[in-house]
Amino acid sequence: MQAAVNAARLVLAGGLVVDGSGASPRRADVLLDGDRIAAVGPADTMPQDAPRIDVTGRVVAPGFIDSHTHDDGYLLAHPDMRPKVSQGITTVVTGNCGISLAPLVRESLPQPLDLLGPASLFRFASFRSWIDALRETPAAVNVIPLVGHTTLRVAAMDDTQRAASPAEVERMQELLTEALQAGAFGMSTGTFYPPAAHAPTEEIIRVGQPLRTHGGLYATHLRDEADEIVPAMEEALEIGRALDCLVVFSHHKLAGGRNHGRSAETLALIDRAARLQPVCLDCHPYPATSTMLRLDRVRIARRTMITWSGGYPQAQGRDFADVQRELGLDDEQTLQRLSPAGAIYFLMDEADVRRIMTHPLAMVGSDGLPFDKHPHPRQWGTFTNVLRTLVREQGVLSLQAAIHKMTGLAAKNYGLADRGLLAPGQMADVVVFDAEKVTDLATFEKPIQASVGIERVFVNGRCVWDGERTTGAVPGRVLERSTAHA
Ligand SMILES: [Zn+2]
Repeated sequence: MQAAVNAARLVLAGGLVVDGSGASPRRADVLLDGDRIAAVGPADTMPQDAPRIDVTGRVVAPGFIDSHTHDDGYLLAHPDMRPKVSQGITTVVTGNCGISLAPLVRESLPQPLDLLGPASLFRFASFRSWIDALRETPAAVNVIPLVGHTTLRVAAMDDTQRAASPAEVERMQELLTEALQAGAFGMSTGTFYPPAAHAPTEEIIRVGQPLRTHGGLYATHLRDEADEIVPAMEEALEIGRALDCLVVFSHHKLAGGRNHGRSAETLALIDRAARLQPVCLDCHPYPATSTMLRLDRVRIARRTMITWSGGYPQAQGRDFADVQRELGLDDEQTLQRLSPAGAIYFLMDEADVRRIMTHPLAMVGSDGLPFDKHPHPRQWGTFTNVLRTLVREQGVLSLQAAIHKMTGLAAKNYGLADRGLLAPGQMADVVVFDAEKVTDLATFEKPIQASVGIERVFVNGRCVWDGERTTGAVPGRVLERSTAHA
């Protein structure tokens, strides 16, 4: 069976093709030939001598692109990428929120760089050396790498609690140029986080100048996703105009009860901006977010759950409020006791999440933190959760619209000419699933669980997930930009 699945030519016969363009599903056979899709059409046009898999009643779609991840180091540590391939993902965008694994060598890490995993992973002094490592020991999925501005700051500055000096800006420009030449698709920022919070707009525009010459996008975890979200969005748009590049609003959300409902306002702002400059966003379908433990988040969240704690490991998986009661400490002291730590914050409104997810410019991005001991379920369930909740249960997205967000739309935004569509000549990243059964099993209580209903996943023509387990194949590639964003 395995030989057939990995044959040079293979027909996926009798399925319902959802091609990633947003077009309606249609019945067609799909011929994979080596690492490409060779044909999509009626059964009688397929070569009769090619091995076939009967996928009658199943959806056949382009492999999903996870538009927002922190998998930079996980790809090297766990190349089978089970959390991702088990939900149909064939490509991950790394280096988001200002934090990329390279270029940085450090034995101890300031938060939030530790969201990417242990310090031992930070061993790449240049971006190219990390890309080379990924090519030498590939993973099961493809990679779209971004370089993080926070990483550049930590690499170039002795003190990040101030604006960068002209010499430090120049050093960051050199590092960014090296990353773009080595294959980065753009730069991310995370001015929400301490090591970048002191970077003024002007610093980001100066550091980002190489994007003007080498091309590349600008993805941003905004300075503020709560009361001051609008000025933070205006800042990002200004940076995008100054650097003449696509702006990606990362994990777009409205944090805190006071701001619930304001997605109508922020999405209208994005619509207005989209008429003047290239812009898009990514998001996941859960009403909770996750990052390092911070009191400003604890205070606006309905509930805070600890994902890991260096200072008090037994807090993992429990609510901050319970742990605080047990310790008999105030907020500040509890934070000190637990730190360094991570948390899940229930601080979004379901209606906002739905409105953002269904916006036509919204891509799907898990934003998962792969090394967390008790992670947010988004690491294992984002894509299957969208297919279950928004498509099947609530009917607020059509199947073809949801898949377009996960495939064709992302491929267009990231400048991939030969992925994201199920069409002849495209690379053979393909997912086969049962639309009636597909379900995320990962929950906030039990977050490490593979989804059900994703029956086969092919990356560059090779099967990496057989419906129950990873196959051991590691056909993933570090992708290259085929088009500059227009
Ligand atoms: Zn972020």
